[in-house]
Amino acid sequence: MRVVICGAGAVGACLAYFLARRGATPIVVERAGVACAASGKSGGFLALDWCDRTPLERLARRSFALHASLAEELAEDWGYRRMTTYAGHGGEGVRGAAGRHRLAWVADGIALTDRLGSTDTTAQVHPGRFTAAMMSAAEAHGAELRNVSATRIVRGRDGGVQAVETGDGTISADAVVIAMGPWSRSAAQWLPLPPVYGLKGHSLVFETGSRIPPEALFIEYQESSGARSSPEVFPRADGTTYVCAISSESPVPLDPAEVAPDEGAIARLEAICRALSPVLAESPILARQACYRPVTPHGLPLIGPVPGTKGAFVATGHSVWGILNAPATGEALAEVIVEGAAGTVDLAPFAPRRFG
Ligand SMILES: Cc1cc2nc3c(=O)[nH]c(=O)nc-3n(C[C@H](O)[C@H](O)[C@H](O)COP(=O)(O)OP(=O)(O)OC[C@H]3O[C@@H](n4cnc5c(N)ncnc54)[C@H](O)[C@@H]3O)c2cc1C
Repeated sequence: MRVVICGAGAVGACLAYFLARRGATPIVVERAGVACAASGKSGGFLALDWCDRTPLERLARRSFALHASLAEELAEDWGYRRMTTYAGHGGEGVRGAAGRHRLAWVADGIALTDRLGSTDTTAQVHPGRFTAAMMSAAEAHGAELRNVSATRIVRGRDGGVQAVETGDGTISADAVVIAMGPWSRSAAQWLPLPPVYGLKGHSLVFETGSRIPPEALFIEYQESSGARSSPEVFPRADGTTYVCAISSESPVPLDPAEVAPDEGAIARLEAICRALSPVLAESPILARQACYRPVTPHGLPLIGPVPGTKGAFVATGHSVWGILNAPATGEALAEVIVEGAAGTVDLAPFAPRRFG
């Protein structure tokens, strides 16, 4: 069974892996580069129970378990590790704020008020390395990666999927999956899909060496201008520390390679980081970047068959939990495509037909 997957982000790469493990032949077409978008520039934070009592609960719990088992089963190291996670607040110029927790690397002005997660419930991966490793593992099981852009779906007489047209010829297919993150909205010209948008976020990667232990922070912060933001800080196993904050609704560029930070956003984020931690204040910055998370109007991912077009599927709209939920999405959708139904997670809450 030839399945063309459009997009090599975390979702496309995980789907390719689970399809290949089930004996299908995935052909992943990627316009810009594996993990070039949010899947390479996001936090990579994982939580077991933060989606509990929402429609995402089963997907997130299954995914959290899969992240642990994949890290053990596959040979490559993508920085998977457990973390302790804290919440707090602070503001520019604040000194000696009181909090229940004290961490040596966090500035005095930041009050750490709660422990949000322990090493039983929170973890992380380096998202770009995770995505690349899943793509390599898929290739080792027979998947193929092609660096081309998907441009159209070719239908047979019955209206079902027959092939995918790319910038470099047509690929015949028994099934096609749209996994193009916020660019999935361009597939609405080829298929009857609900709208998918992109919300921009900015991030910095610092070279912090071994000075910050595996402690993640979620902070509510007030800048000197009065603007409020919610920086998230994730020290990584490779000696870097990732910090993201400052969302915007700037339009998604047509070409994923052209995503760039908004004017002024990086300077604001650098100032926030200097105030958050003396270690960050004196560490070299390795990357200043932005990316878009894919969002849907109803706030849930779209996972499953596209109504009215036999052989067409979609897997996108994972918003802030795309790295967490990519493995269980890939696993369950591979079951639907190859076996006709998902056995591991009920995908009904995410069925595209519900949102027509
Ligand atoms: C700042 C920020 C921090 C985040 N932090 C976390 C976190 O800590 N934990 C978490 O779980 N999630 C996090 N997320 C969310 C997560 O990053 C995303 O939900 C996830 O990466 C989406 O993956 P994806 O594969 O759906 O899409 P993407 O990563 O956007 O990949 C889509 C791919 O499709 C390709 N493409 C586009 N058009 C075409 C075409 N025509 N043909 C072929 N290929 C095409 C693109 O080049 C791209 O590679 C964060 C997001 C942001 C923005």
